[in-house]
Amino acid sequence: MIILVINAGSSSLKFTLYDMDDNKKVLANGLIERIGIEGTSMKYSNFKGEKFQDKVDVKNAREGTKLATDFLVDSKYGVLSSLEAINGIGHRIVHGMEKISEPIRVTEKVKEVLKEGALLAPLHNPHNLVGIEACEAVLPGVPNVGVFDTAFHSTMPPRAYLYGLPYSLYTEDHIRRYGFHGTSHHYVSKIAAQIDGRPASSLRIITCHLGNGASITAIKGGKSQDTSMGLTPLEGVIMGTRSGDLDPAIVIHVMEIKNKTPKEMDNLLNKQSGVLGLSGIGSSDLRDIEEAANKGNQQCAQALDIYAYRIKKYIGAYLAALGGLDILVFTAGAGENSSTLRASVLSGLDGLGFKLDTEKNDVRSSEPRVISTPDSLYKIMVIPTNEELAIAESTEQVLKSS
Ligand code: AMP
Repeated sequence: MIILVINAGSSSLKFTLYDMDDNKKVLANGLIERIGIEGTSMKYSNFKGEKFQDKVDVKNAREGTKLATDFLVDSKYGVLSSLEAINGIGHRIVHGMEKISEPIRVTEKVKEVLKEGALLAPLHNPHNLVGIEACEAVLPGVPNVGVFDTAFHSTMPPRAYLYGLPYSLYTEDHIRRYGFHGTSHHYVSKIAAQIDGRPASSLRIITCHLGNGASITAIKGGKSQDTSMGLTPLEGVIMGTRSGDLDPAIVIHVMEIKNKTPKEMDNLLNKQSGVLGLSGIGSSDLRDIEEAANKGNQQCAQALDIYAYRIKKYIGAYLAALGGLDILVFTAGAGENSSTLRASVLSGLDGLGFKLDTEKNDVRSSEPRVISTPDSLYKIMVIPTNEELAIAESTEQVLKSS
């Protein structure tokens, strides 16, 4: 099966074409950025090593999808003789409300749910829908499948997803924890179980997805039990630019004393906080902050310490929530690449049974690996995430079963 995976954002379109029958080979991938803004550009490469990178004229997602698919059959850069070879399109979609709990073929009904979800994910769902409609126009007749970030967390029990608020806010206004990064948490937990050799149904796993956005999930028997992001991706651990957990009264207080509108406050919490705000060096990239800390910048060292401490607290909380643990997984940009961060998160946890093999922790690799010592009570793993591949696999499954 040939599957095209589309991730349509507010001004970007990411695409990857897989041949699922040839060992899930990536035939081509690309990224169009700054769509509808000045300086629109596209990067593209195919499995033969041919690359394209230049300014392009793309005003909207539909034109972006058309350009992407033109490249797939282009005489110089193409990898398909005809677009008819594409069997299905998998779309990354952020919010499925309580209505969608697994990957699903896109129908008019599913589109309605996406529109409803826009209430809770105004920055993502409308663009995801535009991406689907662009594919329907450019590749008519090819089935579209939606893979939702929230879906994996639909198994959380009410004690994990309800907030201590008037119940009517849940029943009437859908205020609850939904969680995000579900595709990634699910994917790395499945690989962790494969490496461990025991079935996922018998395991308790904590997955730490630590990228620019970051979230931690407690998984039992292959099902999400709790996760750190909430109604929106703002809750949980400190992130690149997001505050993570804080006393909700701070929001009201800061709005009052700084005369901020809801939109300005939203911007402060989502775009100016996290390690960007704490470090004071104008970067949200952990590499920059680690480098500055290594050169003696105390504020950066403190920001890293806070970042790691918050992750440690979630691991402790989820260890208790799961009533024990089998595997702890680190994934995403910082989780996969920063041995300093992993060591800092696990420092002082030997007594609780987390024994990090420091040599293994320091090895740079793009392969899934175990970084705990043989006598560690819990296995500690680094597993590179691959949300695109996970979406392609889900899309294939949906199409095969329908
Ligand atoms: P992601 O959102 O998964 O693409 O992760 C991107 C983030 O991962 C970057 O903003 C960095 O903060 C972090 N990151 C990537 N590589 C490294 C590295 N070698 N060391 C520390 N952090 C890294």
